[in-house]
Amino acid sequence: MKDCLFCKISQGEIPAQIVYEDDQCIAFRDVNPVAPIHVLIIPREHISGIAAVTNAQQALLGHLLLVARRIAQDLGGEENGYRLVLNNGVQAGQTVFHLHIHLLAGRQLGWPPG
Ligand code: 5GP
Ligand code: ZN
Repeated sequence: MKDCLFCKISQGEIPAQIVYEDDQCIAFRDVNPVAPIHVLIIPREHISGIAAVTNAQQALLGHLLLVARRIAQDLGGEENGYRLVLNNGVQAGQTVFHLHIHLLAGRQLGWPPG
């Protein structure tokens, strides 16, 4: 989608520290990490958020989750635990309207989130 930051990262138009990619998704380090491991997993296809996912995209959503788990394992986040976060909408803190899963690990995380 034109003017979408994460579409541009997916297409290589904006650089990012990529940790994983395949034909369906790409994962890269958050530019403003809030934990020692902070990775964003996004579909290559533009979807504005979890609320916009259709039934036909069910397998894609599952793929994103399994990729997030694999990255957590590969980056060493599994031993002490990790968190996957999906912010949907302004009040939830969503600032980029291209679906993304946050992978957070490497420190004690508080609950409930702020
Ligand atoms: P949200 O607040 O929408 O759930 O998460 C958006 C995330 O994207 C934020 O954590 C923010 O730091 C990250 N972000 C925003 N712009 C960029 C960018 O240009 N590059 C990367 N790697 N991350 C970004
Ligand atoms: Zn996009």
